[in-house]
Amino acid sequence: MKHTIPTEDIGPLATKMADAVSKCVHCGFCLPACPTYNTLHQEMDSPRGRIILMKSVLEGEIELEEAVPYIDHCLGCLACETACPSGVPYGSLLSSFRFHTDTKRKRPAAERLSRWVTKETLPFPDRFRIATQIGKLTKPVSGALPSQFQAMLSLIPESIPQRQTLPSVYPAEGVRRARVALQTGCVQQVLAQEINWATLRVLARNGIEVVIPQNQGCCGALAIHTGDKKTAKLHAENNMKAFPEDVDAIITNAAGCGSSMREYPLIFTGSELEEIANSFSGRVIDISVFLSDFDIQPIPPLKNPLKIAYHDACHLAHAQGVTQEPRKLLYKIPNLILKPLNEGDLCCGSAGSYNLEQPEIAQQLGQRKAINIFNTGADAVVTGNIGCLIQLQTHLSQFKGDFGGAQKDIPVWHTIEIIDRAYREVL
Ligand code: SF4
Ligand code: SF4
Repeated sequence: MKHTIPTEDIGPLATKMADAVSKCVHCGFCLPACPTYNTLHQEMDSPRGRIILMKSVLEGEIELEEAVPYIDHCLGCLACETACPSGVPYGSLLSSFRFHTDTKRKRPAAERLSRWVTKETLPFPDRFRIATQIGKLTKPVSGALPSQFQAMLSLIPESIPQRQTLPSVYPAEGVRRARVALQTGCVQQVLAQEINWATLRVLARNGIEVVIPQNQGCCGALAIHTGDKKTAKLHAENNMKAFPEDVDAIITNAAGCGSSMREYPLIFTGSELEEIANSFSGRVIDISVFLSDFDIQPIPPLKNPLKIAYHDACHLAHAQGVTQEPRKLLYKIPNLILKPLNEGDLCCGSAGSYNLEQPEIAQQLGQRKAINIFNTGADAVVTGNIGCLIQLQTHLSQFKGDFGGAQKDIPVWHTIEIIDRAYREVL
């Protein structure tokens, strides 16, 4: 696609945006893959439509406010990137565009307030823990609140586990075969800290020592997703200092954190930190990829056959190209049966803070995913991302009663949790 984007006026990300726009040949192969096009059936809610909108804003052809509703509907799931035969880097275009336009936008008061609440709580586990307690007390009157706040409250699980502080080093069992650092995830530490403990146990059992940098912070996902480049930079700089050099890898067990940490080079494009960000991002690896390359200890068979549906988190499958590695690990558990999931490529509607910002679309996608999961007849669902895990739990339990009346409870686990349980023979 030809463009006249004034790259010299826009700043360091302009060339990336112009290159991405030029690559699009308008073929439309990405449309069937796009969850918002699937849900809203409008060209402007498709990847191709959004690329034209972003181009038109950058060229000064239309006002930013005309494009904003359609850009905001985008989940950033990157299913379009996987589907595109021309290699359009849609994710880099979207993040760059959001960085470029965030400070130019006029937002309604309720939206500004909900963004402030999420930005000041979610990335800080202690504050987030308090916020969830307050949220639980507020649930009975949630109907009187704006839709974004209702969505926030609906996602708070019934029980929040007690805080258990992670050590700074978790030693390997037996001979040490590797040493890694773990990114612990802000939301995960509060809502599902068992994922980190399971990660530590599985790594230790396989001779891998884990360092947990105590001054690490949020990966910056929320800030990147909302276009807040200043905050994203602060989080990224903190982590680039906090994680040690002398480890074999920086392990993430939340797909959203992993894909955000791989976006650090974009944040620092054209700055003196770009090289450091490149090298840092190159060391970030998802737990499933790290373990599938490792000769792991044999896993004892499950006592009884267990049918599992694996849900591909978009930030693992599309943003990091990781689909086979988690399955390879699951196949190592004797007696586990993987059930195919219809529309497995379609986002569940979680997408970072999307289910808080666009609750109606997120609700439709969450329900659609719940139906597809019920239809597999699986005993449990496994995924590699805390955001998906909460979204699936919420919609499976909300929709259970509506779907054929007598559906069983379907637990949702992280991939590493099921491996840990299988090792410990508690399944
Ligand atoms: S990122 Fe996802 S929602 Fe956005 S345009 Fe691409 S496929 Fe559609
Ligand atoms: S598939 Fe790729 S090239 Fe074709 S319209 Fe979509 S983004 Fe453009």
